[in-house]
Amino acid sequence: MNSKSLSDNSSSSAIFPGSFDPMTNGHFDIIERSLTLFDTLTIAILENSQKVPLFSVAERIALIEAECRRFNEKRVRVQVRSFSGLLVDFAKHEQCHIVVRGLRAISDYDYEAQMALMNKSLYRDLETVFLIAREENSYISSSIVKQVALLRGDITKFVPPGIKAAILQKLSQGA
Ligand code: ADP
Repeated sequence: MNSKSLSDNSSSSAIFPGSFDPMTNGHFDIIERSLTLFDTLTIAILENSQKVPLFSVAERIALIEAECRRFNEKRVRVQVRSFSGLLVDFAKHEQCHIVVRGLRAISDYDYEAQMALMNKSLYRDLETVFLIAREENSYISSSIVKQVALLRGDITKFVPPGIKAAILQKLSQGA
């Protein structure tokens, strides 16, 4: 975890947590739109020992940083971190009280509402802000993109070019 928070008294900041294995156009759109609402955004990659990821946490950080470089040209607006344990503890550590999540279909709602309510009950100052996925991204998930790529389908429309290249390279290594 980073010891320095992106936020200061005069700027607004939010955390966008997730697995991002790998980042898709859906994630990217939520990041872009979050930056119209908040000055800075911390993308927080959950280190989840229960899932076998395609990309290591270090690889995911590097890939997302490369895709978000364009937002940091004038000043740092996006930082990428990893965390383990409770999101509320990470948020407290970052001195941030807003979490951004994307909502695709109504099927996301139950899980997301449960998480938001649990987080609120653990940390009452934490607010979860939901952004509705763009229609064209509403059927995209990291796992379905990985499945399509594994079956040699074309993933050009679903992920940024740098991520597509990384996925194809991973699969060519037998992942
Ligand atoms: P998690 O395992 O925490 O759901 P994901 O990486 O799958 O991690 O998703 C992180 C966040 O991004 C979640 O809020 C999810 O709803 C959102 N998200 C994922 N795919 C899309 C998409 N296509 N459009 C909008 N939001 C999305």
